[in-house]
Amino acid sequence: MDKDKQIRKIKILTVQKLEENSNLVLRSLEALKLIKRKKRFTIIYPCQFCGRFVNYAFTPCLFCGNYPKNEQEAATAYLLSSNGYEKFDNLLMISRAIKDRYDLDLLLSNFRELRDEILTDKEKRKEFEPYFLMVKNSIANRASMEAKRIDYPMRSNILCRKCGSKLLLADTQCYNCALLNQQNGNYRIPENNLAPVQKWIVAMGNLLNFIENYLSNVDDKEGLEEIVFISVYIINRLVEKNELPGKNIRNLWRDSLRKTKVFYTHFGGDTAKGVIRIDDDKVKMEVLESCSGYEEVVIRAFGHNLSYLLKETK
Ligand SMILES: [Zn+2]
Ligand SMILES: [Zn+2]
Repeated sequence: MDKDKQIRKIKILTVQKLEENSNLVLRSLEALKLIKRKKRFTIIYPCQFCGRFVNYAFTPCLFCGNYPKNEQEAATAYLLSSNGYEKFDNLLMISRAIKDRYDLDLLLSNFRELRDEILTDKEKRKEFEPYFLMVKNSIANRASMEAKRIDYPMRSNILCRKCGSKLLLADTQCYNCALLNQQNGNYRIPENNLAPVQKWIVAMGNLLNFIENYLSNVDDKEGLEEIVFISVYIINRLVEKNELPGKNIRNLWRDSLRKTKVFYTHFGGDTAKGVIRIDDDKVKMEVLESCSGYEEVVIRAFGHNLSYLLKETK
């Protein structure tokens, strides 16, 4: 069958209506051990200010530098976390809603009530104490928080030294500079001279950004969830501590990529426009003709970074 037709058959993953599973009733049942939540690799939070996935909600966000500064924002961080939402689809939907500046009170049916309940009934809700404490600490350590607020986004957003545009590709020259060179008849593609930690930051940042913004479906949703949680954990350590992942984490990451196998993107349309497939540890990209130049760059950058990370995690 014609490849375009095959790709068109892929349906968009439907993000189901947000369930009420951040409900406090459910949490009480949990505390009584009547229900058990699925065990996850780490906790992730969609940043309430910029929507990007981060590992800690109470230190400045790796991408926008913002952090909760009062009890209301502390309660919001908790309610939006992967502890509050069982389904990864819901976390993805929240992330996209924040990026689109959608009103969370409208998106999450009982969001405001839950938050108000936490804030007015603090004595009964001991489980939130650590969160309020963390906000107090942030206020007490304002100077150090403010330094990180500036430092982290600079470290996570790596720019080309030559033209100043954001680097999209972990392991080769700046895309913008390559285009300019091509216009001048120079087709040589040198590497970008980044340190390994920086290459990893570019690759992981791009991978997460692709999933947050453009991913419409995968072959294995469990694999996708794993890869997001592990990638958020990794990028956090890369930016905050300059720390490359160890062997075990690299293995986990690669296994979750193998499991996820195929990524689809629709770019908001009704049919898939691109497919990125992991086949025998090789990345294969299919880009439909209907893709715009920008969409093609998005797909190819994602594929390039996956190849780089596969090579690094071998
Ligand atoms: Zn942020
Ligand atoms: Zn450049």
